[in-house]
Amino acid sequence: MSAPQTIAFIGLGNMGGPMAANLVRAGFSVRGFDLNPASLEAAGAEGVAVAGSVLEAAEGAHAVVTMLPAGRPVVEVWSQLAEAVPAGTLLIDSSTIDVESARAAHALADARGCPAIDAPVSGGTGGAKAGTLTFMAGGSDGAFAAAEPILRRMGKSVFHCGAAGAGQAAKICNNMILGISMIGVCEAFALAEKLGLPQQALFDVASVSSGQCWSLTTYCPVPGPVPASPANAGYKPGFAAGLMLKDLRLAQAAAKSAGASTPLGAEAERLYAAFDAGGQGARDFSAIIHMLRGRSEEP
Ligand code: NAD
Repeated sequence: MSAPQTIAFIGLGNMGGPMAANLVRAGFSVRGFDLNPASLEAAGAEGVAVAGSVLEAAEGAHAVVTMLPAGRPVVEVWSQLAEAVPAGTLLIDSSTIDVESARAAHALADARGCPAIDAPVSGGTGGAKAGTLTFMAGGSDGAFAAAEPILRRMGKSVFHCGAAGAGQAAKICNNMILGISMIGVCEAFALAEKLGLPQQALFDVASVSSGQCWSLTTYCPVPGPVPASPANAGYKPGFAAGLMLKDLRLAQAAAKSAGASTPLGAEAERLYAAFDAGGQGARDFSAIIHMLRGRSEEP
């Protein structure tokens, strides 16, 4: 029997920790590194071999996955990798970062002769634990083909969206739709309340009419109509408003550099920035309904 393939996993936080654990369960030998000792310890308990640095984790690995908070640490870690790993080592970044940093990371990998993809995810910490994430990937056909079997052990749906940076582009476009649609659904409930229309009546009509969308039927921002939505659990995330703000900022930065007109995306960013500045960034992003009603909390 051949030895299991070794994967290095850098960034073992809320998402990376359970993703690395799923690779262990799938039979890979996983070596992990994180700046935070508590994250390293938790990953160790899931069978990840704990390394003392990025390069120690990457030594002898056939692939390296990064799952980091922002573009700068991704470029820093990939710079280290691009000076040390053998040509041919597969590099995968699953963080949500700006398109420019993603392309800079690809350029570092290209210069080293390493196939690379940006492969951000949708599905949150629940999807990371359950192995049901959606991956959206950017990079060459060859790099995608090499990465797909690894991604399929951490996710349910895997899409090749195009060349370098296309995965990040898909991610921020999707989340811009989500931010805008959540605000629209919240405004509709706030208006219905003023008009004396019961919440359930609005839900029953809109969920089978042209107002139907994920923010309404899966993630309804008022308690009641969708029992599993965060509104029924005190707006505990779920998907924190601070993370939505990060993604809306990435969308606006991309729109600015590409010269795209996104007025509703810009307004969604402004509203989530105000919500975050009011100390609400750790609540679920659907809790913005309170601010849109003109109140900070439920009555
Ligand atoms: P997190 O903060 O829990 O984890 C990030 C980890 O990276 C931390 O443990 C941190 O110590 C580590 N880290 C930072 N710099 C490092 C470095 N230079 N070397 C090694 N480790 C380093 O964040 P998360 O929730 O796991 O999110 C990770 C990425 O996934 C982000 O880009 C986020 O936007 C994206 N994402 C998150 C969710 C979600 O619901 N949490 C959903 C989709 C996408």
